[in-house]
Amino acid sequence: MSALETPALIVGAGPVGLFQVFQLGLLGIPCHVVDALPHAGGQCAELYPGKPIYDIPGVPATTGRGLVESLVEQIKPFTTAGTAQLHWGQLVSTVARQDDGRFRVGTDTGLVFTTQTLIIAAGAGAFVPRKLRVDGLEALEGKQVFYPDSDDIVAYAEQRGIRLGGQNILIQGDDDRALGWALDLTRHLATAHADAATLRPASVTLLHRRDAFSAVPALVARIQQCRDDGRLRFIAGQITRADTDCAEVNSAGRLHAVQLAKQDGTEESLPVDVVLASLGVSPKLGPIADWGLDLLRKQIPVDTEKFQTLEPGIFAIGDINTYPGKKKLIVCGFHECVLAAFGVAEIVFPGKPQLLQYTTTSTRLHALLGVTH
Ligand SMILES: Cc1cc2nc3c(=O)[nH]c(=O)nc-3n(C[C@H](O)[C@H](O)[C@H](O)COP(=O)(O)OP(=O)(O)OC[C@H]3O[C@@H](n4cnc5c(N)ncnc54)[C@H](O)[C@@H]3O)c2cc1C
Repeated sequence: MSALETPALIVGAGPVGLFQVFQLGLLGIPCHVVDALPHAGGQCAELYPGKPIYDIPGVPATTGRGLVESLVEQIKPFTTAGTAQLHWGQLVSTVARQDDGRFRVGTDTGLVFTTQTLIIAAGAGAFVPRKLRVDGLEALEGKQVFYPDSDDIVAYAEQRGIRLGGQNILIQGDDDRALGWALDLTRHLATAHADAATLRPASVTLLHRRDAFSAVPALVARIQQCRDDGRLRFIAGQITRADTDCAEVNSAGRLHAVQLAKQDGTEESLPVDVVLASLGVSPKLGPIADWGLDLLRKQIPVDTEKFQTLEPGIFAIGDINTYPGKKKLIVCGFHECVLAAFGVAEIVFPGKPQLLQYTTTSTRLHALLGVTH
């Protein structure tokens, strides 16, 4: 695949990566942004979407979700114009400097960028799905074990050619997503007409370690209804073993059952063809540790003039960086974006002084933002 050329590439679309897009945009610098998540917002979106935030300047109260929506709205002039392009569900995995001084950056899905500058806004690392820790299941990931990043399980399965019809499906999880899948698939279970046969599972079982759920009460109530009328089986327990038709542990035979240790102290062998798990996400520093940036306790050291790392052209902003007095707060990350943008401009427009302009009065900035007065 040919590389996408860009002056600036941002790793991470948390609140700080998003505001970096805006600050680069004001300086007329196009960029690409890559995030491992399927959506914007980093910690705000994943860890506390509904919780309040009170320390964003000029915003007396918002929520994690509300802040992300505002930041996404704020960068719309650039995303709409195509000068900022966002790529979801991809882990930036490799970074190498080319002979011409630019960086060649690759993602785990095969996207390649050539960029003059790299801005790491990676927070505590890439948010990746938590996985089931059961011998034998790891080797089945992508074949019979899935960690879907979508609420629409039918579309997800169709896109990946996962057969649901006629299968014994085990859903593990207790959040909105897991319960939503269970409801969707249970609905297909009940559909009688022939067209629906391809979607009609043989059975749907919901598994969680206890009979209490983190999903919203409305979903829990609907699940309870399905349990009461016998359409959905719920088991409180955990998978202890995967039974495949291959005797060797961790080699990919075909999964036909899982052994369960149930909360009531009993055990059960449950026939299973497809496992769909929604166990939340956790941040993993992962590949960033291999980019030669002299990490200090998993943080990237930067200067406080431009928030540049020891590697010229690579900047680090937000929770991922460290410097004397560093505070892991969104407002501090926003400040870092401004100075990093000017640092990037020095590389992208060498020898061209960057004058500070006010969004209030600058007609050039008004044009960039698409606003008229
Ligand atoms: C419960 C809670 C409450 C909080 N409340 C407040 C508060 O009230 N006020 C406040 O100021 N701060 C608060 N914080 C802290 C705040 O959320 C963080 O400071 C902020 O999210 C940091 O933003 P960031 O953009 O640097 O990183 P993150 O939000 O962590 O985003 C980083 C993004 O980078 C992506 N990423 C990382 N590595 C890669 C890779 N290799 N490839 C692709 N993508 C990658 C991740 O998937 C992630 O989406 C709170 C935090 C928590 C957990």
